[in-house]
Order: sequence, then structure tokens, then C-alpha cells
Amino acid sequence: MTQNKWQAKQGRPAQHWQPFKLDRAECRLCPRHCQPKNNRMGFCGVRGTVEGKFQTFNFGLSLAATEEVIETEAVNHFSPGTRILSMGNIGCMMACSFCQNWETSQIKHLDPQAVRHYSPAEVVEICLKNNIPMISWTYNDPVVWHEFIIETSTLAQQHGIKTLYKSAFYIEQKPVEELLQCIDIFSLSLKSLNDKFYQKHTKARIQPVLERIKQVAASDKHLEISQLLIPELNDSDEDIIQTIDWVLKNLGTEIPLHFVAFHPAYQYQQVNRTDVSSLKQARRLAYSKGLKHIYLGNTLDAGLNDTFCQQCGVLLVQRYGLHANAINLDEHSHCCQCGTLSSIIRPLSSSPELTFPSFSMETSTFDKEGGGHTEDTKKKQIIIHWHEEAQSIHILQLDAKGASDTLFIRSIGYNHGIKKTLSHGLERFIISRQHPSETGVVISWESDCQYQALALLDRAHYPTYSCTSEQQIMPLISD
Ligand code: SF4
Repeated sequence: MTQNKWQAKQGRPAQHWQPFKLDRAECRLCPRHCQPKNNRMGFCGVRGTVEGKFQTFNFGLSLAATEEVIETEAVNHFSPGTRILSMGNIGCMMACSFCQNWETSQIKHLDPQAVRHYSPAEVVEICLKNNIPMISWTYNDPVVWHEFIIETSTLAQQHGIKTLYKSAFYIEQKPVEELLQCIDIFSLSLKSLNDKFYQKHTKARIQPVLERIKQVAASDKHLEISQLLIPELNDSDEDIIQTIDWVLKNLGTEIPLHFVAFHPAYQYQQVNRTDVSSLKQARRLAYSKGLKHIYLGNTLDAGLNDTFCQQCGVLLVQRYGLHANAINLDEHSHCCQCGTLSSIIRPLSSSPELTFPSFSMETSTFDKEGGGHTEDTKKKQIIIHWHEEAQSIHILQLDAKGASDTLFIRSIGYNHGIKKTLSHGLERFIISRQHPSETGVVISWESDCQYQALALLDRAHYPTYSCTSEQQIMPLISD
């Protein structure tokens, strides 16, 4: 087996496999059913056969735990605005030519600097110590991280932490039965309804994905569906109508459906970003067929992601980019104007099982020119100017990797600022544009820590250090 350091260290017994011939094991986690020989890996590159038994090589191996918000995960009807701890691992059971996270999903492109090791208890502790009420299994794809996710999610739920699973869901039935025991929210992506598309562009098949989505829909778990609209690949009216018809027939009119803009990536760079007009056309078709909750992801245009009362039409949740503001919902999800029950589950802050201490972010006020910070101005700082390609950033602690520290973040052109505290292993968090008048942000700190800003090309995108283009590393300006 070709092993680098992380593979050699992390092999441990896998679940969902059976013996196959003398020198092979057959994996039953995803429908690919790889049968690697001894000392060989399966298609995903993180599971393989050792002495006739199947092992997982990525248990606990993760991208840096990152604080984001639930809106990054194409989930709009569960606790709008909730802070989440996004956990991504490495490898994938698919190989989409247009993959938006190919630097970590395709092992051969992985930057080892991006990989950390966490135990289940450490992940839960990061949440508890930083008052983050939800873990999201996301980015590359959680399917190939199954054992770690089951163990950590079970532990998290024992501590009152919710769990979210964002996946392309090419997975077998039995593993899904286990997920249904410990996952609260599923955000599942369809690429197309066309099996030829799946075979050619994802190296997977459509039917198992559809069956597993129906399996989740038949449970009591929260479910939302998204589809990336990729120019010239799956954005024709015919493609979109196929998706809408399947969703209507199998999931009903109430299911939230997200059409999401694509950015050129990996092996599919010959087209531009998805145009907003394509997203709007998909929404028109979905509404005309009877779907009720259609959202357009990765766009900042006003009014494309708001939620309205289905009875009286009043605005229930207003969204701008990744910011959500529930404005006409009572604590039991009723419309404040007409009393109709909405399908949005209320923010977790009202959940009685959570016993976290007070929220760690505090609001300060700044003048409109972006100055006027009340703290000492002898600070190191990063100045970010939003631009068309990037309206969100990850801020990461470069050296201390999770040391306690406080940063001050103030808007440029918008009257807003916050104090952000990092502690107990949390080394990375998201900042996104929050208002049309905000042209950028200033991030400052007084400690000896070093920070870097990496541009997010879209939500649920995880930029790595060296595998990104120059444009993804934002300019750093120090005083
Ligand atoms: S999870 Fe990995 S090893 Fe298992 S069948 Fe799927 S691609 Fe193959």
C-alpha cells in the first residue's frame, strides 16, 4: 500500500464490509462496493484492505474545525442564523468533474497542511467551550467518514448539540439507518435526475441516491434538497423540470429546494459562474409546478432567499448572503401577523436542553467611515474589500492553532462591529458580507497570533493553503 504519514497512523477497523476471496474485502458503505486487494485502497482513497479486513484510514482526520452559520449548508428551515461547527474530512466516494471542494475531496490533490486530527470528545469540547450548538458534517463528503461521524454525533447529541449532514448521499441503506439514529438535519444534494449525467460527470449512479433520499424523507428528520446549476451541464429547462417533478412526486410541495450557483472549478472551468437569470428561471419553473419553498444559493441579490408566510404573505425570515433575520416568527414558529404555523423550526437559542453560558460575540458600534473603534488602535489588522468573486472569507489562526484570542471585526461602509473570541481549538471562522452598503471589513487583534484570510468562492467551500489560486488569498494590510 502506498502510505503517507496520515494513512500509516490512522488505520482502524471499518464498518460495513464483508470478506471477498482470500486477499480482498468488499466495502458496503457506498454503492460502489470496492473490492480492493490487500494493501490497496478503495475508490475514495481513505478505506482499504489490510490482511483481508477492511479498515478506515481517516478516523479523526479533519480539515480545521470552522465556525460558520447554518445558511452555509443550504438549510433555511431549521434554526435560521444558528452558528455551526463545520467539520470536513478528506476523500470522496464520487469524483465530480465540477467538484467545488476538489482540493480535499480528491486525495491526490490534498494539501497535508490542511489536515488536523480530532477525537470525538475534542470536537464536542470545541462546541461546548465556544458555545456552538450544532456540528455540520460537510465540505468534501461525510459518507467516507462514517465511523467517526456516528461516534461523534452520538456523543454530541448526549450534550444537547444538534447534528447536520450535508452530502451527495451516494451511500447504502444500512449506514443511513445508523445516521438516522444520530443526525438531526440532512441537507442532500442532487446533481441531476439523469443517470447518464451521474455516470459521466460524477462517477456514481442516480438510483441509489434517490432511494436514500426517500429513506430520510420517510423518517422524522429535517430534510432540505439542493441542486447545483452548472452552465451547459444540467441547467436546461428539461433538466430542471425533471428534478422538480421527482421532488414533487416523492417529497411533496413543502420540502425546501435550493438551486445553487456554481463557480468554475476542478476539471470544469471552461464556463462562467451560474448566472442569476438561470437560477431565477429554475425558481419560476418550480413555483409553476407547485413547490412552495424555493431558494437561490450563492447569490446576494435581494429577495431570492427570503421566507414568507404561506397564508398572509408577510416576510418571516429575511436573508442577505449568509445572514438571516427571523422577524415575524414567534417562538413556536407561528407567523406573528396571522398566527399560521410556518415550516421553519425556531432558533436553537430557545431550546431548553442547551445549557451553554452566554453568547461569546459582543456588539460594538462604529462610525460609518469604519473608524471610531473604542479600543487601542495599536493593532495588527487585515483589511478585506468585498469583490464580485468573494463575498465571504475564512479567517484562520496560522501559528497557534486554536489558542484563545480575541479579534475585533468592524464593517466598512456599514455601522456594525463585533468582538469575536476563539478558544479551545477553534482556529477558523467565517465572515460574510452582511449588507449591500458594506464594502469590506477590518479584522484587528492585539495578540502575537498570526491570521490569514482565505476567500470563499461560494458557501460550503473550503479553501486550502497551497492548492488555491492567488486570488483566493486575500490581501493582508498591517498597520
Ligand atoms: S466508501 Fe470508499 S471504499 Fe467503500 S465502496 Fe465507497 S468508494 Fe469504495
